[in-house]
Amino acid sequence: MYILLMGPPGAGKGTQAERMIEEYKIPHISTGDMFRAAVKKGTELGKEAKRYMDSGQLVPDAVTIGIVRESLANPECKNGFILDGFPRTLEQAQALDAILADLGIKLSGVINISVADEKLVGRVTGRRICKNCGSTYHVEFNPVKVDGICDKCTGALYQRDDDKESTVMKRLEVYHEQTRPLIEYYTQQGVYFAIKGDQPIDKVFSDINSSIKGMNHDNN
Ligand code: ADP
Ligand code: AMP
Repeated sequence: MYILLMGPPGAGKGTQAERMIEEYKIPHISTGDMFRAAVKKGTELGKEAKRYMDSGQLVPDAVTIGIVRESLANPECKNGFILDGFPRTLEQAQALDAILADLGIKLSGVINISVADEKLVGRVTGRRICKNCGSTYHVEFNPVKVDGICDKCTGALYQRDDDKESTVMKRLEVYHEQTRPLIEYYTQQGVYFAIKGDQPIDKVFSDINSSIKGMNHDNN
């Protein structure tokens, strides 16, 4: 199955993707994770991406589309994927249509997790991530058992540079301007599934699973 996970920053895409990859055994492709890995390695891509990420802006389409095209051509994506955080602009959505057509892949569905802006700021500023395995926690809503230590692998937790309140406000503005209009784009394609993200993590996951059952998985 070929799934897009959409929603504003902090909606719970990464959290749900962690559960979905366990359940469905398909790769998780997150453009945000790819950019953060490049920043960590100090590559040219990382240096360029960091400038945009730190100010809450989108990395330019040409760069982002290129890395997604490369990832989806990978044989491990042949039987399915969860694409998280892409597309975020109309140009990216149109490019994705072309990439999938080239690969002979039809989207199973687009899952949009929605949460009100007022709640998103607290979610993002309280987010903590494991340096070692990438698991996502929240200081209040999904806390670790031992302060600062990942439950799964005992790695140290950190806060993303772009999870400061001022940057979050900019990211939300960019989301509303550039990404939210894609809801209409995918509704017209008949592949859109809306999920209420303001519910306990397990309930969001079970709603996602119900949506997946309702998707058309033919010709994939
Ligand atoms: P995204 O990938 O969409 O930016 P994350 O999955 O990283 O969002 O979630 C953002 C923060 O909100 C994390 O700290 C996560 O633990 C927390 N979170 C995720 N889902 C929920 C939920 N349903 N209720 C409360 N907090 C949540
Ligand atoms: P995320 O991890 O999805 O919250 O993304 C973190 C940051 O990476 C974003 O604020 C952007 O700067 C950049 N980014 C991630 N995905 C994209 C994308 N599809 N297009 C442009 N920039 C992106």
